[in-house]
Amino acid sequence: MAEILIIEDDRAIQNLLKIALKQEGHNPVAVKSAMEGINYAIKNIVDLIILDLGLPDMDGSNVIDSVRKFNEKTPIIVVSARDDEAEKIRCLDRGVNDYVQKPFSSAELMARVRAQLRYSTVTNLEQNVFENGYLKIDFTAHSVFVSGEEVHLTNFEYKLLSVLANNVGKTLTHNYIISKVWGVGGNDSNGLRVFMANLRRKVEKNLYEQELIRTEVGVGYRMNRL
Ligand code: CA
Repeated sequence: MAEILIIEDDRAIQNLLKIALKQEGHNPVAVKSAMEGINYAIKNIVDLIILDLGLPDMDGSNVIDSVRKFNEKTPIIVVSARDDEAEKIRCLDRGVNDYVQKPFSSAELMARVRAQLRYSTVTNLEQNVFENGYLKIDFTAHSVFVSGEEVHLTNFEYKLLSVLANNVGKTLTHNYIISKVWGVGGNDSNGLRVFMANLRRKVEKNLYEQELIRTEVGVGYRMNRL
């Protein structure tokens, strides 16, 4: 059972979400403004936040910034009526985990909630060994294994793979990845693409239906959980 904070001013959507989340065995709490949401998230431990961007007191993106200042881990799923690719990227840049466009089906949203809760349990373990399908990373030894065989990565390839692994299941934007691997302004999307191609050649195998690393065209990359 997870504590889930819903920040949404539309009563009908609030109720729909509450019912669906309760059916999944969760404990939802709903508030209708950005300020209430920020206050609640500061004072309580929540496992996941569902955030509407169009709120009466201020834009929902302010909630992302406020929450991320004191909490980098809690998954945030944005639900927005705005069909705007640039805004989706801005949200992901700010540390949002997923972005769902309205209107959405509650089944779809619940699947995304499940995925986020699963990933956060895996990544919160702070393990020194990361395993995902055929891929294994030993963070202490800085070694990477594919189907049990060690592969040799350059320093930047290793950092790139680590950033993806630490955010498994989450789409990371080009800017986010570049800032984590090279530092802000340390590379550009074309440079990143070259490193990513080399990395994928070394660590990807076609063993599963799902790719290990997914290219989100125009947005960034995501490591899938195999
Ligand atoms: Ca709204």
